Amino acid sequence: MVAMPPSDPQPPQAEHAPQAVPAEHPVRVRQLQVLRRESVTPRMVRVVLGGAGLAGFESHVPDEHVKLVFPDSDGVTRPPTELPDGSSLEWPRPFPPNREYTIRRYDRETDEVWIDFVVHVGGLASDWAQQVEPGTSVWVAGPRPGLVVPPEFTHQVLLADHTALPAVGRWLEELPTGVDAQAVVAVPNADERQELVVRPGVEVTWLHTEDPAFGTDSLGAALEQLSLPADRHVYLWAAGEAGVLKPVRRWARANGFARGTCDISGYWRAARTSRLP
Ligand SMILES: Cc1cc2nc3c(=O)[nH]c(=O)nc-3n(C[C@H](O)[C@H](O)[C@H](O)COP(=O)(O)OP(=O)(O)OC[C@H]3O[C@@H](n4cnc5c(N)ncnc54)[C@H](O)[C@@H]3O)c2cc1C
Repeated sequence: MVAMPPSDPQPPQAEHAPQAVPAEHPVRVRQLQVLRRESVTPRMVRVVLGGAGLAGFESHVPDEHVKLVFPDSDGVTRPPTELPDGSSLEWPRPFPPNREYTIRRYDRETDEVWIDFVVHVGGLASDWAQQVEPGTSVWVAGPRPGLVVPPEFTHQVLLADHTALPAVGRWLEELPTGVDAQAVVAVPNADERQELVVRPGVEVTWLHTEDPAFGTDSLGAALEQLSLPADRHVYLWAAGEAGVLKPVRRWARANGFARGTCDISGYWRAARTSRLP
């Protein structure tokens, strides 16, 4: 490994870099059943979905996500409708209450979709996940085709907060042979760490957001400390609270991570009533 200082832009990223491109599959909306609810860690709940509505489900990339559509205050749910060509969904106006969640796992053998919810105070989806009983129906929109990272990116850097840990867990399980990865994951405390698939060539660093030293620049600072290989194509993926990602975006720009070589997504915003209508 050769350390690359942030001031030294990375030529392999800027020129002749491979590109992540969207997968191809139709966008569907379906009604699924809750099969069971499990506790993953004290602040993470897994809801397992399945049922006849899962027929034809496709999930191709580890950070693929769906929108869960919840009922309006009158108890009626207004799901979107599919376009005949499967290219998109048409959403009713005003938008129904909905929240985005990662497909932690799609198990074709058992026909199950796992969704892992961070439990927090005062969240529609978080409350639902903590209380929902087996047999309950839920409308699930998507996933839209996610970005497929080609294996020519033989080194991948993953930065995540608690909400993006489900994606990191799946990402490391599905890492192609010959690809190395460095993951930095910020969870509230040691109780929220999870057993991940850490094969040779994979390094996972845990940060604790409840540590008084943790700040909005901590994920970016951890990124700066990583030693990245200068002779390999590096893919950068980061997701989590929007403010925590700002230094990550700055670092990515300063180091030549162009479109197709990185994906940095704000998953939620601290101190906002709601991120979606
Ligand atoms: C593409 C994508 C994939 C995602 N995947 C996952 C996933 O797999 N698992 C997951 O847990 N989340 C995931 N999220 C984040 C999740 O959608 C948001 O956290 C969402 O706001 C939670 O909805 P809610 O109804 O529980 O809370 P909301 O009603 O949206 O928010 C209520 C209040 O809670 C705060 N809040 C929201 N989320 C959190 C949080 N995590 N911790 C503390 N406070 C919070 C808000 O700031 C707001 O003040 C993903 C988001 C995106 C965009």
